[in-house]
Amino acid sequence: MTAHPDTRTEADDVRRFWEGLGLPGLVDVHTHFMPERVLRKVWAYFDALGPLTGGVEWPITYREEEAARAALLREFGVRAFTAMLYPHKPGMAPWLNDWAAGFAARTPDCLHTSTLFPEPGVVDHVRDAVDAGARVFKAHVQVGAYDPADESLDGAWGLLAEAGVPVVIHCGSGPAPGKHTGPGPIARVLARHPRLRLIVAHLGMPEYEDFLDLAERYGEVRLDTTMAFTDFSERLAPFPRRALPRLAALGDRVLLGSDFPNIPYPYLHQLHALERLGLGDAWLRAVCHDNAARLFGLPG
Ligand SMILES: [Zn+2]
Repeated sequence: MTAHPDTRTEADDVRRFWEGLGLPGLVDVHTHFMPERVLRKVWAYFDALGPLTGGVEWPITYREEEAARAALLREFGVRAFTAMLYPHKPGMAPWLNDWAAGFAARTPDCLHTSTLFPEPGVVDHVRDAVDAGARVFKAHVQVGAYDPADESLDGAWGLLAEAGVPVVIHCGSGPAPGKHTGPGPIARVLARHPRLRLIVAHLGMPEYEDFLDLAERYGEVRLDTTMAFTDFSERLAPFPRRALPRLAALGDRVLLGSDFPNIPYPYLHQLHALERLGLGDAWLRAVCHDNAARLFGLPG
């Protein structure tokens, strides 16, 4: 018995969603693939309702082997996805980056993902990863428990801004705040690196409006939709209705993200959660495919 709905039915429904919009598929900028033993630890953490889950029940819907998870994304018609992975201590990032390079090599539809941590050598780690072909980075301010504006990261942000490589960054204070989460530290990073291509994960949940401010101020700041607007998140951190026009106006810088496979509901629900915002088909096309396809230069 699996906890999630019959995957064939769900894949059919997901495909119907993007076909109905006239899209060639989906691009999901926020999916998790990581070394198996790290992923098991993440799942155990969610199962045990660790403090960073905010004490909320978090049943993992897609608890499958790696190959099955990638295959399922393909069945959904996800043309390109990422391997979000992140260190929680020094010394881990190069090892994770090596694994991610191997994963990308054997998974051509994965956008080669890397990560970083404030530690001696971080600029070299980032340069190595970019030279090895990394197309996107992941930074996790809450799990890493570091200040993204820390001086030791300045060179790394500068290098990534220069290279134009986007960084998906979990920097909002959801589902539970960390010492350095929230818009303040990120605003300091952007003040120094205004062209840094930050993709604010989870739409900055729960500080949505503060992160909309930053996106309006900095033209290279984007937002991913990961878990936003779902029933699960709306209960914990509702998106303020008054901010919907701002979300509509930023429609060319909002990107589909899902948190697959670590989600407590079916993948389709994220898509329906976007649809029911009522921002229209053009907005959905941009968010679910076109914006990320342009950012990552995917073939038409
Ligand atoms: Zn995530």
